[in-house]
Amino acid sequence: MRTPSSWQSPVNLRSPVVVPGSSGSLDLRWEKGSQRFDVVSEAHGHRFRPVVAQEAVLGGEAYRLANVHFHRPGEHWVDGEQQQAELHAVHVRAERALQVLVVSVLLRYEADGDGGAPTSFDLGALLPARRSFYRYEGSLSTPDHDENVSHAVFAEPVQVADQHLARFIAGRADRARPPQDLGRRYLLLCE
Ligand SMILES: [Zn+2]
Repeated sequence: MRTPSSWQSPVNLRSPVVVPGSSGSLDLRWEKGSQRFDVVSEAHGHRFRPVVAQEAVLGGEAYRLANVHFHRPGEHWVDGEQQQAELHAVHVRAERALQVLVVSVLLRYEADGDGGAPTSFDLGALLPARRSFYRYEGSLSTPDHDENVSHAVFAEPVQVADQHLARFIAGRADRARPPQDLGRRYLLLCE
């Protein structure tokens, strides 16, 4: 049995094993342009569920986009530094056991206040130009912290241009779980 803390998320992203030529192993097939979401307020915060079905492919395995949500501050640290905010796009795959892929983007924003949750925004506009990403195996960062979660965290941060979304993140994004011990897990940087 694993100890409860052995495969947990988030983690501090540092000293990865660089894997050149592998950034194409993550293929995001998200709807282009502004898209609509059903916004649900759950115990852990707001969940933006896409109205149109879409998917991500990691290493040839397709996962369905289940929800998008935001954390402030960010959950993943980079070289010991906490990040301003973070997007999580949670994808699921239900063959054999349930498997989860969380695609994360480290976000910067300049906004104050307490914007209500937008019901549409351009998800693709929150992706960095450079597609290098960290990859490791971990867990959900909310209870029950289920494992069997693949994490892909883009290395390049993105500035949030959408001011409605930036105000929402400033005022109402979810809290962040502290970094967990990476232990003996591999941290890859797919470039
Ligand atoms: Zn999250």
